[in-house]
Amino acid sequence: MEKLFKKTFAILALLVLTAFTIPTTVYICLSPGGKKYHYDRGCRGLNNCTHEIKAVSKGDAEGRGLDLCGWED
Ligand SMILES: [Zn+2]
Repeated sequence: MEKLFKKTFAILALLVLTAFTIPTTVYICLSPGGKKYHYDRGCRGLNNCTHEIKAVSKGDAEGRGLDLCGWED
C-alpha cells in the first residue's frame, strides 16, 4: 500500500513540475521597432502590427529584450 502511495505521489509531483515548466506562449510583432510581447493574440497592441506576428515562448521574448505590453500588465 505504501508503495502505491509513493508511486501516486511521484506521478503527482511530476505533473506539477511539468505544469510549471511548460513555457508560456506569447506573441511578438516582428517590426524593427517592436519592444513588447503580448499574451493575447488579439490584443489591440498587436492590431497596429504591420509585420509578421510570431508566437514564441515568454523566455524567448524576454531574451530579445522585449517587455510585456502596456495593455496587459
Ligand atoms: Zn498586448
